[in-house]
Amino acid sequence: MDDTGSNDADVLVPGRGQPFRDATLICGTEDASSSDERGRILYVGSTSDLPTKYTKLSAVKVPVLMPGLWDAHVHYFGEAEPNLDHLAILRPALAGMRAARDVAATLNAGYTSVREVGGYGIDFSQAIEEGWMPGPHIYSAGAPISQTAGHGDLHTQPIELMHHKIAQGLPLHLADGVEEAIKAVRLQIRRGAKVIKLCATGGVMSRIDSPRAAQFTPAELRAMVEEATRTNMYVAAHAHGTEGIIAALKAGVMTIEHGSYLTKEAIGLMKEKGAILVATRLIQVSGIRHPENMAEESYRKILTVERANKKSYQEAIQAGVKCALGSDLGISNVPSDFKHGMNGHEFYLAVDAGMTPLQAIEAGTANGPDTLGPQAPLSGQLKENYDADFIALTEDPIRNIEVLAQPNKITHVWKGGRCFKSPGKPITIH
Ligand SMILES: [Zn+2]
Repeated sequence: MDDTGSNDADVLVPGRGQPFRDATLICGTEDASSSDERGRILYVGSTSDLPTKYTKLSAVKVPVLMPGLWDAHVHYFGEAEPNLDHLAILRPALAGMRAARDVAATLNAGYTSVREVGGYGIDFSQAIEEGWMPGPHIYSAGAPISQTAGHGDLHTQPIELMHHKIAQGLPLHLADGVEEAIKAVRLQIRRGAKVIKLCATGGVMSRIDSPRAAQFTPAELRAMVEEATRTNMYVAAHAHGTEGIIAALKAGVMTIEHGSYLTKEAIGLMKEKGAILVATRLIQVSGIRHPENMAEESYRKILTVERANKKSYQEAIQAGVKCALGSDLGISNVPSDFKHGMNGHEFYLAVDAGMTPLQAIEAGTANGPDTLGPQAPLSGQLKENYDADFIALTEDPIRNIEVLAQPNKITHVWKGGRCFKSPGKPITIH
């Protein structure tokens, strides 16, 4: 068994910082005998400076190397219907089997890590880590926490059924009042959450609420952030409307999901607090193209929200707000053009909103782990001692950012020093 892997690239994109030419990356493989080296990057730099102990290794030669991609906002609900109310009657084992395809598609697209802001990934990610199926590292929030009648409630279902399903493990949670809010956070921590997700405004897919309406009281928001902070965890807030965004930021929320109605005040607060915006463009762009993918009420909402979201994203980028890329992929619907594996569309959508290709790459690699705050792994950059999660591409994404949206141009995927995809060894997805 080989302890060490060697890779030469014409161009190496480190994730944060400038790309450079004629590079070599050395990593400890999953079989490395030293636990300090196993699955870690041991050397990144120019081939001419390679330490002599590595010069005899036979290298895999590729045009471009870069960090494994990070999606900071996905869901593995295993729901095939675009109507989330179906979640109440979905059997978890069926959800898990569908999600097996979704996680393989995610890895095949070059995504070695995701932040799951709600879904069953919290329960099945152990199977990926144990090697039962190919997929990314999943850093999950468990159940998004919502107030009753909020974005995370299933509005057409009897409330008794909701409570029953939540108790059985449905990854949604309802909490009202400070005490329940604190308990909700503790329950996600108990389940293995790496980040807490709450819903600070209404949403598009939730049937009866308005994306502009604030949800949770400031006291409830503060209680949840304080509880998460005690366990060294960041809180992510689903937040479209201005009032909810500002309330979440004032309570100490560190990542704003969607952020569709940002104002000067909200942008100023984000910068002051060092909060990160995850604008989730793909779900919006795909949503307006496909009325058949959502309920009529939801489609009416997205037509307005999408425009506001793009304008907010542009203004935030212009103002220098820190951004991470997140697709909000969450439906297991293979025939649609909004399915797991399409995560990489976020890169050109970020460029379309005003980022340079290099900024978009940083947002979709190095900034990903930053959305986990103190729980962040050493990942998202090609740096010594970081996780050996990296990919090879046929062309330079700085020159053609759209290459990141084409899984067939991502020729190799390594995760934890193990090669999961290479020419002749595809990740099979049906
Ligand atoms: Zn989402």
